[in-house]
Amino acid sequence: MASLQDPLGPVVGAKAAGRLATGLDVRTVGELLRHYPRRYENRGELTDLASLQDGENVTVQAEIASVSVRRMRNRPGTVLEAIVTDGRGRLALTFFGRGRQDWREKVLRPGARGLFAGQVSTFRGKRQLSHPDYELLGDGEATVRAAEYAAELIPVYPATGQITSWQIADSVRMALDLLDIDGDPLPRAIRDRYRLVGLADALRGIHRPADRRDAERAKQRLKWDEAFVLQVILAQRRRAAVAFSATPRKRRPGGLLAEFDARLPFELTVGQQLAGATIADELGLDHPMHRLLQGEVGSGKTVIAVRAMLQVVDGGGQAALLAPTEVLAQQHYRSISALLGPLAQAGQLGGAEQATRLALLTGSLGAAARRAALHDAASGTAGIVIGTHALLEENVQFADLGLVVIDEQHRFGVEQRDALRDKAGDGRPHVLVMTATPIPRTVAMTVFGDLEVSTLTELPAGRQAISTHVVPAAERPRYLERTWERVTEEVARGRQVYVVCPRIGGDERAGDERAGDERAGDERAGDERASDERASDERASDERASDERASDGLSEDGAADQAAVRRPPLAVLDLATFLESGPLAGVRLAVLHGRLPPEEKDRVMLAFAGGSVDVLVTTTVVEVGVDVPNATTMVIMDADRFGVSQLHQLRGRVGRGSHEGLCLLVTEAEAGSPPRQRLHAVAATLDGFKLSRLDLEQRREGDVLGAAQAGRKSSLKLLTLLADEELIGHARQAATDLVDADPALADRPALAAAVGALLEHQQAEFLEKA
Ligand code: ADP
Ligand code: MG
Repeated sequence: MASLQDPLGPVVGAKAAGRLATGLDVRTVGELLRHYPRRYENRGELTDLASLQDGENVTVQAEIASVSVRRMRNRPGTVLEAIVTDGRGRLALTFFGRGRQDWREKVLRPGARGLFAGQVSTFRGKRQLSHPDYELLGDGEATVRAAEYAAELIPVYPATGQITSWQIADSVRMALDLLDIDGDPLPRAIRDRYRLVGLADALRGIHRPADRRDAERAKQRLKWDEAFVLQVILAQRRRAAVAFSATPRKRRPGGLLAEFDARLPFELTVGQQLAGATIADELGLDHPMHRLLQGEVGSGKTVIAVRAMLQVVDGGGQAALLAPTEVLAQQHYRSISALLGPLAQAGQLGGAEQATRLALLTGSLGAAARRAALHDAASGTAGIVIGTHALLEENVQFADLGLVVIDEQHRFGVEQRDALRDKAGDGRPHVLVMTATPIPRTVAMTVFGDLEVSTLTELPAGRQAISTHVVPAAERPRYLERTWERVTEEVARGRQVYVVCPRIGGDERAGDERAGDERAGDERAGDERASDERASDERASDERASDERASDGLSEDGAADQAAVRRPPLAVLDLATFLESGPLAGVRLAVLHGRLPPEEKDRVMLAFAGGSVDVLVTTTVVEVGVDVPNATTMVIMDADRFGVSQLHQLRGRVGRGSHEGLCLLVTEAEAGSPPRQRLHAVAATLDGFKLSRLDLEQRREGDVLGAAQAGRKSSLKLLTLLADEELIGHARQAATDLVDADPALADRPALAAAVGALLEHQQAEFLEKA
């Protein structure tokens, strides 16, 4: 008998356990049984070969049409080529051998059907799998696993180079045969109410379904597990949060905030006033505020944050502002210093009477500056401390931390919020989270389930329109030339331009941004794979550890993969050299990327903000928050390499001043292809909410949760945040009721165990990221 927590070795054998561990990072019975099939093949029904995408890892069911063997021209040995067919399309299977490969020729007989697994590539115009794994079906006692293929549906698992779909199926069958489940994490009452099958039935049903309805029932129940366990954790968090106390920081007439408001050079929008009033009230309560402020790029979130921070300083406390990148932390420091003017110059000549001080704390500070900033924070001299992740470090202390503001939340996890919150000593600080990526309701319920939400729906008056166009550089080289002419014209008018590339370049391997302070996006994971591809020859391809799940996320539209076959993504350094010596000769051009030393980054950003640089060739380091009103044009190279929300964020860097914005999405993606359609969708609307839904539809949920960015496993495998909105709502209600009745889950050991396992998983994610 085996329980879900048991290690796999004794259950499936040491060899299979080893393969599962290295190939899939699956180590326990539970982890194996939560490695669900990605789809089911009907027995005997052949896979549509026309649907295969280059670069994709596939398992196909097909029939062998012909087999031929020839000698290799340039080295000893032979190539065996088997052509398989689905009745219409054809796919070549190629095997390289030192000798004659007679044995393989005997096995792969025309007319035989089998499952073939490998990575799809195109060689001399022909689709092929190089060195695929295979298993023939219904072909003699020895190779048939009667039990497996008696079933109507054959599960097809996300597999890797180290382990095939059918090897996984074998291990799963052994685990299911021995499985003994003690207790169901979903309470009986909830199962009855929503007509859900028990856990044991569900696990059997998803791996070895009798028919599609059986699989569907299983899936529905297992989705509930994912939604419910997460919602129980969030319900517990909400309960715990209410139980904490915080120091109330009520508004003080005649304080810094009042003085700031009096000096503000513009009227607050109605949205800003409303959100501001809610926040002001909550800061005055004796338990901590947990509020998410969402609003389009440029909707004026920073002013709201500054006003909240001043209210807390007026109340005798300090505020910390956490930014996702150095560039952004520095920019906040500069712009908030400017906004506050004499109000932030305590102890300086010209400082206002009740002024406070700002401190900036980032990883790149010199020792002396760092010591000074740490001192200002710890002594309370600095009312407002602005910084990056460096603020989370243990030696950072505050005299009386009253408010934590987190800018651009999607880059920080719940645990990081907690780390900063813990610096407040006994009580808890108030927390304000700001994001410019509009969040669909289900995501808000799932990812930010412990936060209340305020939304800014309007932009401050006088914001300029941004027009967006797709530039098809491959079909219309002239359009690209025109792009550079347009850039020159803008510069001649005294305006400034961003040119964004997906990669830095130089002598690094592709995917180098990871070293910088920005997020390692999925585009980059794709690039890294691309460089592997270039380095390896055909023979090595079957040894490559290419994770089907990861490639699935990338090739949802095939974008990264198709591009990878074409060429590596454009690099900042290469493009800058090209532009300087050609289309943009004579224009003042600078480069900005995550590999520059921080002082250099700061210097370049200042030069651009100050207008002494016309064109900034850069990576996504400018994505969030960067504010240069005189910048009117944004050219995004290889735009198909970026996610929808990322493009929208980038576009938000222009049209911020009194001049209209222009965004050009340069791409070589083919007309009509999914990546091309995606770009047209971005061009067609400025509605961030619409785009974030589109983005969500195309990404894996894990990315949304911040977990799977480095290809790690997400805890949400079946649940889709958009399609399962109703289920998530029900699960949230059920979880809240249950936690209200039994906060510690004392009567629910199976549920408590599931909650514990998920928390542990999240903790591991966090440690890995940190
Ligand atoms: P975001 O929400 O993207 O963080 P910011 O807070 O950076 O937006 O605001 C963008 C710009 O708009 C800033 O220069 C800011 O000073 C300005 N701004 C903010 N609120 C208003 C307003 N009510 N009227 C005019 N300008 C505003
Ligand atoms: Mg901002």
